[in-house]
Amino acid sequence: MTTRPSAARKIDQICPAASEVEILVVDRNDYHNIRVRNYEVDLSDVTIPLADVLDPIGVNHMRAEVQAVDPSERDRHGRLLVDRFMRATGLRHVFAAGDVASSVIDGIHSTVMSCQFARPMGRFAGHNVVADLFSLPMLPLQIDSYVTVLDLGAWGALYTVGWDRQVHAVGASAKMTKQIINRERIYPPRTRSRSDLLAAAAPTIQGPPTARTPQA
Ligand SMILES: Cc1cc2nc3c(=O)[nH]c(=O)nc-3n(C[C@H](O)[C@H](O)[C@H](O)COP(=O)(O)OP(=O)(O)OC[C@H]3O[C@@H](n4cnc5c(N)ncnc54)[C@H](O)[C@@H]3O)c2cc1C
Repeated sequence: MTTRPSAARKIDQICPAASEVEILVVDRNDYHNIRVRNYEVDLSDVTIPLADVLDPIGVNHMRAEVQAVDPSERDRHGRLLVDRFMRATGLRHVFAAGDVASSVIDGIHSTVMSCQFARPMGRFAGHNVVADLFSLPMLPLQIDSYVTVLDLGAWGALYTVGWDRQVHAVGASAKMTKQIINRERIYPPRTRSRSDLLAAAAPTIQGPPTARTPQA
């Protein structure tokens, strides 16, 4: 979901003639689903209308089903292989990000289907697709850290760092970190403010959230 605001942000910097470029989001739904935070039964809080995040930044959207993308190469999970600019291998004008794409992110490891990778991939893909269109330098995405924070219910959570998953924090403090991710980081700004939305789409990489000490 970060790809389109990021493309809009780059266009905002370049300021081409309005008729020169259009960003159109095609989605089978007219809302963006945030994964559930607390196993909610009422999903209205985790369903964000596309209009709320796209209209303020001038991005058009239509409800339709994408029938097929025909990549020359896929990984074993069926994901499109993309280079460090999020450009699909063998498809000159296709960029991909998130769960549908696979990129070697630190020279060794491939991206994992998770918000940790999907969000920066989207921000870089949007930036780069516009840069490519206007023959401007693209930004390579490199992420050197990897964490997992597993929610274990009432007991708390398990927070590990590194690809060999060294334990970093457990219990209530790890749970607080999980909640920073699930309740703050994965949400786009919901202020309908153009500047908030474009700022959140900057092609940057957030550091891993720090473990917090729960208040007594
Ligand atoms: C229940 C659940 C819990 C999760 N928990 C975690 C977690 O704790 N930590 C973590 O890091 N990750 C978690 N994930 C994974 C994380 O949510 C995904 O990695 C992330 O959402 C991927 O973002 P995305 O933009 O690539 O895809 P999505 O957010 O899935 O967005 C894809 C969009 O494409 C649209 N679409 C799909 N196919 C078509 C089509 N053919 N035509 C038109 N539109 C289409 C969909 O409607 C959707 O809007 C969880 C996922 C689930 C389902």
